[in-house]
Amino acid sequence: MLFTQLSRCLHWIPGITWRKSASKKTIYLSFDDGPIPGVTPWVLDTLDRYGIKATFFCVGENVARYPELFEQIKTRGHQTGNHSYNHLRAFRTNPDDYLANVEKADKLIGSSLFRPPHGELTYAQFRALRKKYELVQWDVISRDYNAKLSPDEVFDIVRKGVRKGSILVFHDSLKAEKNLRAALPRSIEFCLAQGYVFDVL
Ligand SMILES: [Zn+2]
Repeated sequence: MLFTQLSRCLHWIPGITWRKSASKKTIYLSFDDGPIPGVTPWVLDTLDRYGIKATFFCVGENVARYPELFEQIKTRGHQTGNHSYNHLRAFRTNPDDYLANVEKADKLIGSSLFRPPHGELTYAQFRALRKKYELVQWDVISRDYNAKLSPDEVFDIVRKGVRKGSILVFHDSLKAEKNLRAALPRSIEFCLAQGYVFDVL
């Protein structure tokens, strides 16, 4: 798969964060694509229930539509990151338009963290963005958005994938909601039972 091959290539480029320190038993839980009514508030309540903090890579147009949800993410102690304004695909967007879209989101989000939608980034975009942002990918993606996967399969991906310093991705989106609601609490409980702590990026 192109995506998998690309991810593998990008691992070799210094300047992209895929995983944090392997010396600490810490997991960096992150949520992409929100904020979305009904889903993001549920995630925030779930995180509160376990007393853990996470990082939310928000889409600018969702922040513009639901500014009160974006404020809630921050006031409840979580970290925010930029996920572009329109969730653009880097490979289908010219570099100037792509960068302008990220800057448009930055005006609302104001974070030094950026995660490229779909994990796509061209070298030109990478070079420009890294001057201003820490570029954050992941080492465990739950694939909660994949309707062909059951919550059990999503949980299995997390259970088998997490390790010290893992950056773990879920999605506070309507597409992922069914798997998210079932697999997130189990995943958090599994990590806590294994002795991991959670922190923000
Ligand atoms: Zn995304």
